[in-house]
Amino acid sequence: MTHASEKPSWMPNLPTRTVRCYRCANRFEVAPKAMSASCPHCHRRIVVSDIVIKQGHWGGRLETCGSVIIQRKARAHVGAAIAGEGVTVLGVFEGSIVSGGAVHLGEYALIRGSVRAPNIVIDHGAVIDDARLEIPGNAHAALTGHEPPDIDVQTPTARHAVA
Ligand SMILES: [Zn+2]
Repeated sequence: MTHASEKPSWMPNLPTRTVRCYRCANRFEVAPKAMSASCPHCHRRIVVSDIVIKQGHWGGRLETCGSVIIQRKARAHVGAAIAGEGVTVLGVFEGSIVSGGAVHLGEYALIRGSVRAPNIVIDHGAVIDDARLEIPGNAHAALTGHEPPDIDVQTPTARHAVA
């Protein structure tokens, strides 16, 4: 299985990649090597490059519209890992994971804390040690904690205009 963190050097014509804003949960296109961008939906400045943790990592928040990858030999103890596209844990992770895409726990993964994602894939051998798992129905609910506000066709602005 290939992963987004691998450089697709054999795909020179790939002009953009799609990421999901971890603040408003909407998707947008960025240049493949872009590190940060302004979200065209909520206009906030956000990190779009993937975050790869290779060894120990202590404290803070890992936030990206791309993916967070905790490698096999990594031990991450963070307040939160918030990823628009997904989180892969192959090593040790303590903290809360909030993801708009699938969370994958590899066979040597050990997690403590919480995971909220629309999809959680747990390999045989992965250890979940005192973690709360929450699986809302979609990426928006996973990232923001509530359903999309404009899922209804009628918009509030139209009603205001009549009033
Ligand atoms: Zn946004």
